[in-house]
Amino acid sequence: MTDTTDNDLDTICSESARKNNVHLRLVKNAADKDARDRQGDSVQRTGGRQNNAPSTTDAFVILRLHDFDILEETFGHAVARELNRLVCERLRGCLRAVDVLERISANEFALMLADIGSQKQLETLVARIVERCSGEYVCADLRLDIRVTAGVSIVPQYSSLFEEQLRYARIALRKTGENFHSSVQFFTPDLLHDLQDRAAMLFELRQALKQRRFVLHYQPQYRVDSKETIAVESLLRLQTHDGELVFPDRFIDLAEESGLMLPIGHWVIQEACRQFREWQDNGCALQHIAVNVSTKQLIDNSLIEIVDAAVQDAGIDYCNLELEITEQSLISQISMAKDVLHELSAKGVRIALDDFGTGYSSLAYLAQLPLNVLKIDRSFLQQLDHDKRSAGLIRSVFYIARELDLEVLAEGVENQSQQLFIQSASCHMGQGYGYCRPQTAENMTSMLLQPAIPACM
Ligand code: C2E
Ligand code: CA
Ligand code: CA
Repeated sequence: MTDTTDNDLDTICSESARKNNVHLRLVKNAADKDARDRQGDSVQRTGGRQNNAPSTTDAFVILRLHDFDILEETFGHAVARELNRLVCERLRGCLRAVDVLERISANEFALMLADIGSQKQLETLVARIVERCSGEYVCADLRLDIRVTAGVSIVPQYSSLFEEQLRYARIALRKTGENFHSSVQFFTPDLLHDLQDRAAMLFELRQALKQRRFVLHYQPQYRVDSKETIAVESLLRLQTHDGELVFPDRFIDLAEESGLMLPIGHWVIQEACRQFREWQDNGCALQHIAVNVSTKQLIDNSLIEIVDAAVQDAGIDYCNLELEITEQSLISQISMAKDVLHELSAKGVRIALDDFGTGYSSLAYLAQLPLNVLKIDRSFLQQLDHDKRSAGLIRSVFYIARELDLEVLAEGVENQSQQLFIQSASCHMGQGYGYCRPQTAENMTSMLLQPAIPACM
């Protein structure tokens, strides 16, 4: 086994020189291993190895110590270095002479595990290594609890190229960062495809932003009693070069993670306000336009400025704009979100709580926030036919809303029985395919300009 000694850890050399060094040592070990295997093969050819010998597996593993940077910033370099030393010590205890261990970055170790009997044995071994390295450490009188995860790539299952093996192990490791419940992930081609899809979508999002290929569609919101259209919700779509529409479920999360949701969301607010003004100028009697706002936008300092500019540039009133926020965005950043929402509400902007009932609905939130509308998630109406308790739940939400002086909008009204139910429960507003599917701006304009025909199913 090639140990990572304290000297290695202390080596004062540039990061890239150190990486190259480690790289060379791993390559060398991989090459030595290849040579040994070739020798083995020739032995086998001359009858030296049993024909029924069990198949062996080699693997590359990357181990990551999580939150290492926070730990180093909080407790200093000496503690971080001591932790690395202790982790190495534990690792050494798990490895055999044929295995190779190298530190490849401040908080990552690469292992080359050779000649493991089978994949099952490999799984057991890696799980044991991770378990052994995770958990409590005592460094310089500090008690630390360290999360360790591993990405594994089996040689030569998907590639025998050393560079690719490391890349595959890293791709697998990425997955363990996303999922708190899994600490070991084996590489599979699906992981690579997902990553490639993400990269392609990220490229497409950037291009679409530059080339102005985002469009808004609009879905009407109706008064349940009179069936008049009183508002529309703007719904974002990305238009590909071929004119195909990509729906938000395929890109919103990625746009959020990559920070692109901020410029995209900025455009959505501007465009929705501009479109509302155009409808107003054409004599449409809409009360407001609803815009979905993501978590990132809600906690970004510029949201208030963006709303101010969009409302003023379009020449509409603040009360013509409704921002739809989700519970999820509130939970993560309640105090900051609350301040922003109060400031917007004081200007007259309407605030709707979207997908209500799907998160960890806390009644305490409802009372603290300057809400105008509760939008009951469509899953409640969908369950109406299957689960009688849904009706009771929806009625209780209406009761709470009335007590808190909030309007209630039922989402996902698809058929007449759902429409009759929300009517009987005194729900104020409804929205759904049963009334009208989301429409292009052009279609929505002609619908709004028709003499008021109440929506019917
Ligand atoms: P949402 O805000 O809950 O929007 C309603 C979604 O339900 C829309 O899907 C709409 O087409 C769909 N829908 C409406 N009526 C019905 C119905 O009767 N039955 C069914 N099954 N579905 C119905 P869409 O347009 O695909 O949007 C999905 C989600 O993407 C939205 O859910 C919203 O969370 C997000 N989104 C859309 N536009 C934006 C945006 O501009 N910014 C942000 N941050 N998120 C957006
Ligand atoms: Ca919405
Ligand atoms: Ca919704």
